[in-house]
Amino acid sequence: MDTKAFKRSLQHSENYHRKGFGHQEEVATQLQSEYQSQLIQQIRNNNYTLTRGDVTIRLAEAFGFCWGVERAVAMAYETRKHFPTERIWITNEIIHNPSVNQRMREMKVEFIPVTAGKKDFSVVETGDVVILPAFGASVQEMQILNDKGCKIVDTTCPWVSKVWNTVEKHKKREYTSIIHGKYKHEETIATSSFAGKYLIVLNLKEAEYVANYILHGGNREEFLAKFSKACSLGFDPDKDLEMIGIANQTTMLKSETEQIGKLFEHTMMQKYGPANLNDHFQSFNTICDATQERQDAMLELVEQKLDLMIVIGGFNSSNTTQLQQIAFERGIASYHIDSVDRILFENRIEHRLLNGNLEITNNWLPDGEIVIGVTSGASTPDKVVEDVIEKIFELKSIVAIA
Ligand code: SF4
Repeated sequence: MDTKAFKRSLQHSENYHRKGFGHQEEVATQLQSEYQSQLIQQIRNNNYTLTRGDVTIRLAEAFGFCWGVERAVAMAYETRKHFPTERIWITNEIIHNPSVNQRMREMKVEFIPVTAGKKDFSVVETGDVVILPAFGASVQEMQILNDKGCKIVDTTCPWVSKVWNTVEKHKKREYTSIIHGKYKHEETIATSSFAGKYLIVLNLKEAEYVANYILHGGNREEFLAKFSKACSLGFDPDKDLEMIGIANQTTMLKSETEQIGKLFEHTMMQKYGPANLNDHFQSFNTICDATQERQDAMLELVEQKLDLMIVIGGFNSSNTTQLQQIAFERGIASYHIDSVDRILFENRIEHRLLNGNLEITNNWLPDGEIVIGVTSGASTPDKVVEDVIEKIFELKSIVAIA
């Protein structure tokens, strides 16, 4: 499929909407009352610190809702107002936050059901409204919805669209896109649907394996087995790694994306010589500002003396996991939770480990004076962060006054 031509024609269709519907002011008030927090504002105004009794909270200087997420949520609220009686669907979680997604359900915005791991679009009928989430949707999904005659409200973040444009550029020059990301993540699924030939690498270790194959060859069968779920159909590592371009899932660890870019740049320079680099390698910076700011703020926060860290965000939120990884690498006791409900009775906490497993830790909150670092992923409303801080104050027998 000519994905670029399809996207262009979709954008000219009267059924396609990617700007609001003129209800911005009303929606802004509603969002403020549902998701903002006075306590968090107070901490921000107090140089990102608050001490009550034995507990000092240090907030990262950039955290929580990014503008791409705010925009997507606001557009979803506007959509409900603009189409009060139509059936409204979302192709996936609007963002990776359980409370926001629950709010969508309450507003009768339904999620496309998933049967045996596949989305079942048969429930969607002509004239229904379908929202595409902040991290986008695959071109095949857009095509199905367009063919059905749905009204499409596209909240895809412009940063994600920028990555799609990058892989389109690779495709035009017949370069293979090497995508730093998680092959199962919706954003990467969407990005790869716009790419021509592609290979998805999860981390520097996988990138090194590929770089080594480029320079020295290797076991082809092993390569294909290793990336069986993470490459385009018919991918041939002996032919399709001669011209490569770098792209990324916007929420990966920035430093790792940069290292991977440099690694492949050096690899292609070593293989083809500096004078020929541009014929074999392309790179554009596609890490989003919000991800970068939150990671930089986290790096500053972990430089301070902290007894423990709380990282708040959806369990399938990639950018939250990256924040957690920064704390983990510094050896700080760190708990990734998605809501206050993970803080359990008798000083126990249920939290997500970096490997994705859930674990309950006993006696997580030490006695006496403690300093707790707090941050949250780009999909997390301030209200959720407030609930967690209030709970900690309560457990340490302090009443927080906002
Ligand atoms: S994290 Fe970045 S790419 Fe993702 S929605 Fe926010 S601004 Fe957009």
